[in-house]
Order: sequence, then structure tokens, then C-alpha cells
Amino acid sequence: MKAHLKTYGCQMNVQDSLQMKGLLAKQGYDHTDNASEADMVLLVTCSIREKAVDKVYSDLGRIREMLPDNPNMVVGVSGCVAQQEKENLFKRFPFVDMVFGPDAVSELPTMLKDARDQKQKGFKSRILKTKFHHKKDFEFVNLLYDGEENRVKAYVNIQKGCDNVCAFCIVPRVRGAEVSRPSSQIIDEIKALVDLGVKDVTLLGQNVNSYGLKDTGEVTFAQLLEKIAKETNLAQLRFTTSHPKDVGDDLVEQFKNLSILAPHFHLPVQSGSDRILQAMRRQYDTKHYLTVVEKLKKVRPDIVFTTDFIVGFPGETAEDFEATINLLHTVGYDLSFSFTYSPRPGTTALRLEDNVSEEVKKERLDILLNRQRQVSGANNAKLLDTQQTMLVENYSAENKTWFGRTGTNKIVHLQDENPKRSLTGEFVKVKVIKANPHSLIAEAI
Ligand code: SF4
Repeated sequence: MKAHLKTYGCQMNVQDSLQMKGLLAKQGYDHTDNASEADMVLLVTCSIREKAVDKVYSDLGRIREMLPDNPNMVVGVSGCVAQQEKENLFKRFPFVDMVFGPDAVSELPTMLKDARDQKQKGFKSRILKTKFHHKKDFEFVNLLYDGEENRVKAYVNIQKGCDNVCAFCIVPRVRGAEVSRPSSQIIDEIKALVDLGVKDVTLLGQNVNSYGLKDTGEVTFAQLLEKIAKETNLAQLRFTTSHPKDVGDDLVEQFKNLSILAPHFHLPVQSGSDRILQAMRRQYDTKHYLTVVEKLKKVRPDIVFTTDFIVGFPGETAEDFEATINLLHTVGYDLSFSFTYSPRPGTTALRLEDNVSEEVKKERLDILLNRQRQVSGANNAKLLDTQQTMLVENYSAENKTWFGRTGTNKIVHLQDENPKRSLTGEFVKVKVIKANPHSLIAEAI
């Protein structure tokens, strides 16, 4: 049997998909990239912006057209659109068999069996699982999907949900309250990944900095990093996403103490204007944010920062936007993920007047992207002729280059016309011979 999974949105969804692929493999399903030949199609959806939701709906329209040729295909929708729209999805797309939210990922095999049984009996199934589990009942999937070859990098869930109240964000509504995964499970998974050859692990959560704080007897995030460094043979460790209000001095200290931590910090700021940060209910101001950045730079001078920006939030004036541009230059981000504000159902920002026109939002986004490109280009230009260490991920026969990343997460293309042996999974010293804004070209030393 074959399954086709299509994943939209963030790394949390990518990770959910990977786990569901593992669960499906145990049920005898091979993955196929071709939806029309699949026995089951599952969309792992994202609702962070309206455009992402529209994309899911248009893909469901395409799946509907495949059904006359493949009437036994089971169609499922999971992820954040499923959690947000619930039974409305059955009304709009009656051919859908299963709608389930992120809390029900581990129940996929049972749901799929029920849907298949119903189909075989000639009935239509309507399986809906969008109730959040109580914190004590929530179960993380403890299954390692080893169906991917040459895994040099891996993501490990350490938390689900979010207890924050950012005014623009739909995540707490679709992913529920924060739950921290037991540290013993995290350690076991990292050990197993290392045995599979993984060198670089990114710990995943909506707000990893608050890991363990609400669980008696659990370690804090800073302690978790130390535990991983001490108890596993992992070579390189990263994490995402952080909340600036929760980056404590204990975490800053770990960047001094733990060499396993890559010198890269993704620290979403969203806006450079204190007025807008307050309207966004982010619970910090730019002074606090810059203090955290300075502390990290002090203990780890080679650290680089990346961030997220939202432009055109309700009430954002030209001065507010200018403050965002200034912050971009002050921190000197290597990269930023920037989007225009998109009103989302159930968020408190809906109470604010969305008074920045689409034209102005687009104009500001273009300016921001342009400035970011200049800053990224200037940062990379400083690396010309320097020696760097990259972790090699794969070889491109077409480009005759090895692909990899530095500890600072910069993309490196290492030229190698005639590779004599595989470098995949190795830390290799290289010399930078060309610097583009978003990648480096290097030669072997
Ligand atoms: S911290 Fe804020 S932006 Fe991040 S997931 Fe939670 S509510 Fe959303």
C-alpha cells in the first residue's frame, strides 16, 4: 500500500509528518510522491496565514478530481487547518474521510483502519479528532522514522503547544496548551539518532525557553541542554523557537559552557517598535531584546542571529516601521523571515483596526527584504578568504559541489569536481572563495 503526505508550513508540521510516515511504515505503507497512485493521501496543513489555508483548499480540489479513478483512496486532513476548521471541512469537502488536529497524530493508525473498514463496507467515514488532550494525557510519539538515508541533521520535539498570548498568533488556538516532553524521552531519541549517524540536532518547540518550567521534577531548558551534552555523543545542537522574554541568564551561560551548542540563535523579534510590540502582546520591549542579544554576543562572540518580522501590524506607522529597519541594522541579522500581517480567526489582534493598506504592507515588506539582503550580503562578505568548518549534508553531481552548513547555519557549496570519497556527515574545514548574500562558495583546504 502507498501513502502520500503533503506538508505545509513550519518545522513542527515537518516533524509531525515524519512521525506519521513512521507510523504508516509500521502499518505497511510505502511513501509515494504521486498522490494519484496513493491508497491514502494526508495533508498536514498550516493556518498561520490566509494564503497557506487557501493553498490547502485548492489542493483538496485537485484531490477531488483524482477520486473517480481511485475511489478507495482515504483522504485525511491534519495539522492546523484541521484543528481550526473541524467539521466544516467535511461540509466543504464531503469526500474527506479523516480530520484530526496535532494532538491526534499518534492515533493515525487507528483512524486509518476505521476509515478503510468503512470504505470496504461501502460506507463513508467521518472521523473527527480535534479535542485537545489534557496535559497529563498528552503523548508524544516516541518513534524514530529511519526511512530517510544519509540523515546528517534531525529535529527532535521537546514541547508542544504554547501558553503565550501574542495578539497575531493562531498557534495557541490550533496547537493547544504547552506540554513539555519528558527529558528521558528526548535523551533516548537523540542517542538513537546519533546511532543512525545524525550529527546535528535541532530541538523543536513553540517556546523552547519555557521547557520544563511548569512540570515539577523536570529539568529547565538550560539544564536540558547540559544533559544532552553530557549524556549523548551528539556533535552539534541547535534549538528553535525562542521567546525573548524567556531567555534567562542560565541559557546565556550555556553558550559559554557548552561547545556542543552551535553559534546561532533564532530570536523572533516581530517589530522594532515598542508601541507595536505592546500591541502585539509580546511581553518585552526592544531594550530587553537588545540586552539579551548583547549578553549572548559577550559570551559567544561568533554567534549570529536570525529573526522573524511582521510588517503592517494594525496601527503600524511609518515611524514604527523605521524602528524595525533600525533594529535590523543594530542586531545585524544574518537572515529574517518576514511577512505582512494577516488577520487570523480567534486572535486578539482582530479587535484592532487593520488600518495599514495592503499596498503599504507590501511596500514595507519589499523595503525590509531589500535591507535584509544588504545586511546578509555584508555579513557574508566579511567571511571572504576566511577558513570555516562546514557539516556536509550531501553532494550535487549536477553542480559538482558538496552542500552543507557552518555552525552559524550559513549555506556552503564546497567545490569538488572529482569526489574521491563521501564527505556526507563529516565536519570539513574549507576556505571561502565567494560570498553571496545567502550562501558561501568554498574550496577544500
Ligand atoms: S510565542 Fe507567540 S508567536 Fe510564538 S507560538 Fe506562542 S503565541 Fe504564537
